[in-house]
Amino acid sequence: MKQMPKEKGSRQSTDIFQLLKETMEKEKKKEKQELLAPLEIQEFFVDGNITINKRTCRGLECKLCIKACPTNALYWKKGEVEIVEKLCIYCGACVLSCIVDDCIRIIRRRETGESESFSKPREFTMLQHAINTKKRHKRVGNVFPTVESYLKRYLKSKF
Ligand code: SF4
Ligand code: SF4
Repeated sequence: MKQMPKEKGSRQSTDIFQLLKETMEKEKKKEKQELLAPLEIQEFFVDGNITINKRTCRGLECKLCIKACPTNALYWKKGEVEIVEKLCIYCGACVLSCIVDDCIRIIRRRETGESESFSKPREFTMLQHAINTKKRHKRVGNVFPTVESYLKRYLKSKF
């Protein structure tokens, strides 16, 4: 019975921790938006993570990711590719241009909660293809909500 206040206390500290975490995330997001504002680049992902395997990177003879990055989040420093995470929008252009598989890895999360992860140009292309297919199906579904509506329109235009 005497354990009750202890539980309440621990819940309170969890709430404070959660609150702090949320505040820090909001501040980080705000800072990122301010940095990206002059570039007029829209963010599509609520959060994400990008890593570069510096052991497999062939930076000296490559640097393609730096050229492909639309936000200048990647730069060359002392013989290595470095990242300014605050500028990264997780677009995937760097993975698409990378000459080494699994060198750059991106994990990103959409507003819907959906998570996407890729580290090869092929994976990125397949993901993009799947996203576009989903969009096309949605658009067709809006115009033709039922099979009957599709057939009605199709038959009308045919005869
Ligand atoms: S994911 Fe896009 S914004 Fe981020 S480093 Fe790669 S190219 Fe730049
Ligand atoms: S594109 Fe890939 S291999 Fe080339 S510099 Fe960037 S991370 Fe390294």
